[in-house]
Amino acid sequence: MIYADNAATTKMSPLAMETMMHVLRESYGNPSALYTIGREAKKILDNARRDIAAVIHAAPGEIYFTSGGSEADNQAIRSAALLGARKGKKHLVSTAFEHHAILHTLEKLGREGFEVTLLDIHENGLVSAEQVAEAIREDTALVTVMAANNEIGTLQPIREIGRICREKGVVFHTDAVQALGHIPVDVQMDNIDMLSASAHKFHGPKGTGFLFVREGLDLLNLIEGGAQEKGKRAGTENTAGIASMAAALTEASLKIEETAADLSAKRDRLIRGLSEIPHSALNGDAEKRLPGNVNFCFEGVEGEMMILLLDKKGIQASSGSACTSGSLDPSHVLLAIGRDHDTARGSLRLTLSEDITMEEIEYLIGSVKETVEYLRSFSPTWKDLISGRTPFVL
Ligand SMILES: *Cc1c(COP(=O)(O)O)cnc(C)c1O
Repeated sequence: MIYADNAATTKMSPLAMETMMHVLRESYGNPSALYTIGREAKKILDNARRDIAAVIHAAPGEIYFTSGGSEADNQAIRSAALLGARKGKKHLVSTAFEHHAILHTLEKLGREGFEVTLLDIHENGLVSAEQVAEAIREDTALVTVMAANNEIGTLQPIREIGRICREKGVVFHTDAVQALGHIPVDVQMDNIDMLSASAHKFHGPKGTGFLFVREGLDLLNLIEGGAQEKGKRAGTENTAGIASMAAALTEASLKIEETAADLSAKRDRLIRGLSEIPHSALNGDAEKRLPGNVNFCFEGVEGEMMILLLDKKGIQASSGSACTSGSLDPSHVLLAIGRDHDTARGSLRLTLSEDITMEEIEYLIGSVKETVEYLRSFSPTWKDLISGRTPFVL
């Protein structure tokens, strides 16, 4: 089996697994308790906070543990919006291709009286710092732009965007869920005020993440209860998950350059191979993209059919349309970069992790070629295209 859906989730690393099991078995105390095993659990949390902070060049006190990326996104945006509103600032800036944890939160705030500007995405899958600068107004409370897109893997110019926000005194949040552990992220150099992360995207466990909030910036809690996380996020801490997340992040960051170099080479081979398929196109910039991300559109095929046939060949992949499961709507990301509905439906996302071999890359190329050819052989849309009844787009 070739698992090529690492943007959806990753397999836990042996170290992350070992750490989790160890804490579950040995350190089950409540971190708020005063006796020995409670204090031990508290120490585990403190160490995890210290290690995570070190990776992103933050201070330990700036890390708030959450149940994952979605919760961190929700809290960051809602908090910044409500705090902004207290000062009469009710304008929020983001992009059209954010994760739904961001977009749906913004939509809801829009219904609650906030004004939301969603920046257009260039056809190469990038938003520019100039666009952000133009969108910022006197009453802008927050700019939120993802560090790396989860579908097409494009890397946004967050350092420049952060600089502009800093100059204009606007809070800058970035959803770095896809970036963290895969490309270097430094909250100081990148001028980040708030950052969301999720352990299961960098070989840690599901259901654990964190929010970085720069010292001096207020944060509103969304979950009432105990005084955990300085009163900003109630609930007994997921000690084992948090320790495991810290281990996974530290592990990933220690070898980040070599993993990225190795994966980029494999990604580029895969891109070259799939580009040989006629009437296909890579989605998103070829260079400014995550080391493990490959995303193509093939004309005249249905994404879902490709996923099912590839599964039969032992390949686990994803299609843009599979994200909004149950609906036939194509991916909002592919529409945002200007793909039409039909073309967007024929998308395939292959997201690699470091354990993939070059032989497996060759197998992926061969299998996708066969699958696309097979599906086209009885596709009515393809028939219309080759007969000239409808023009090719790609
Ligand atoms: C996966 C993902 C999320 C959601 O994280 P969860 O931990 O699954 O809630 C948010 N943003 C991006 C970009 C993601 O890829």
